[in-house]
Amino acid sequence: MKTPRILFATSEVAPLIKTGGLADVSAALPGALAAAGCDVRILLPGYGDVLAQLEQPRVLYRDELAGHPIELLEARRPDLPTLWLVRCPRLFDRPGNPYLGPDGHDWPDNAERFALFARAIAALALREVDGFRPDLVHLNDWQTGLAGALLAPVDARPGIVFTIHNLNFQGLFDHDWFARLQLSPTLAAPDALEFHGRLCLIKGGLVFADAITTVSPEYAGEIQTPEFGAGLDGLLRHRAADLTGILNGIDTNIWNPARDPLIAVTYDRTTLARKGTNKHALQAAMGLPVSPAPLCGMVTRLTEQKGIDLVIAALPRLREFGVQLAILGSGSAHFEQALGAAAAEFPQQIAFVAGYDEAIAHRIEAGADIFLMPSRFEPCGLNQMYSMAYGTLPIVHRTGGLADTVQPADCAEPAPLSAGRMFTRSSAPVVSGTGFVFDRPEVEDLVAAVARALDWWRDPPRWLALQLNGMNRDFSWTASSQAYLDLYRRVLARPPAVAQGVPEAPA
Ligand code: ADP
Repeated sequence: MKTPRILFATSEVAPLIKTGGLADVSAALPGALAAAGCDVRILLPGYGDVLAQLEQPRVLYRDELAGHPIELLEARRPDLPTLWLVRCPRLFDRPGNPYLGPDGHDWPDNAERFALFARAIAALALREVDGFRPDLVHLNDWQTGLAGALLAPVDARPGIVFTIHNLNFQGLFDHDWFARLQLSPTLAAPDALEFHGRLCLIKGGLVFADAITTVSPEYAGEIQTPEFGAGLDGLLRHRAADLTGILNGIDTNIWNPARDPLIAVTYDRTTLARKGTNKHALQAAMGLPVSPAPLCGMVTRLTEQKGIDLVIAALPRLREFGVQLAILGSGSAHFEQALGAAAAEFPQQIAFVAGYDEAIAHRIEAGADIFLMPSRFEPCGLNQMYSMAYGTLPIVHRTGGLADTVQPADCAEPAPLSAGRMFTRSSAPVVSGTGFVFDRPEVEDLVAAVARALDWWRDPPRWLALQLNGMNRDFSWTASSQAYLDLYRRVLARPPAVAQGVPEAPA
């Protein structure tokens, strides 16, 4: 079968606009698909901040959707496949975070903003623009979900794949939005977009896509349980036959210590000693004493999901261990305050930078000895993979993609020497693993895992063996993009989908 033409719809794409891993995936996966021969368009809302970064986007067409004049723009950059943007200044020309206003709260018209984006996706799925008509639409997260519901009933539509990057972001809005968005009344049903009396946009993908993926095999299982299913586990169990987990990769052009322009000195497996220079540079940049103390890094959204509260509660114990902490994060004000206060009180051991900073993120990955990722749940997680690629050993809670990617450190001691047996090279301990894993998202478990890691850290040859194990792993998109391609082909090989729901003109 020929390589499919893919319309990849997403609400963020690195490096143009990013609040989390979705942006990294939305750049790297389409890039890997294009490298595999697919004709790909990345479709993104035309945020003002993004348009300002693009040189002379070309207008492909002008239209009106749901009463809004829109333009479809095309831009080309060397680091991304062809980019298409839905320009609608009234809804998208707002600075900063794509979802939040300056007060830190969701924009009150997010339902309208992303419904318009979804209508644009659906419209583009069904027409040829500039010689491109997609065989398959790949939707990502709730911001694109409505497109699934709009497209599903249409004859001769493209295949629909929907990826869950985080099930806890569901696109929930008051019930009156069904009418305000002029959605077909049949969509306001529990087997469509209604969810506990509200409009739930992620259900547009979960109910109507031909195939659903999420970003790790472990998370694909977890979200079918009440504990991790965020109320949607029943629906996901119902769709289990169409749900798979495909592990994210990392963009090895950007996250590669051998070629990273943002770190003090580059290094690889053969020059790992140079990681020490990055550690000293990081300590100096973060205002920590330049010392051989074990240095723990963290780069994160400051939310309970990421277990930052566990780290804050563990700080007194971690300080007793003599570690330094370098934390970069943005998010809830109370976590920022708590971390800022701890850093002010213990500047010898705790450094905190509030905000979002790509360069510091790279420097932490390169400079830290240990990376903390005690997430309560983690669909895939990227930072633990960046850490392993940089020879920085992750400490993670055994959940989702963290469980799938971090192999617990283990050391099989050689059999005791029997009388007369010579000591040989093969009697050296066999060190397996790429990090440290704990079972419950509790302060005690986190502290115990750090203690375990420090035991290993005090044994440099074994520590080095773990570092090399991680650096030897292939976290590139090669395997995962192939898995997506196989899935696209399976979806396209199916007989035409039986129309679901009621037809609604997708514009
Ligand atoms: P999530 O998408 O849930 O936030 P991931 O681990 O999948 O978590 O991806 C997070 C991405 O965002 C990583 O690339 C990480 O480096 C980046 N990131 C998170 N917080 C910050 C920050 N404060 N500054 C810079 N990069 C950050």
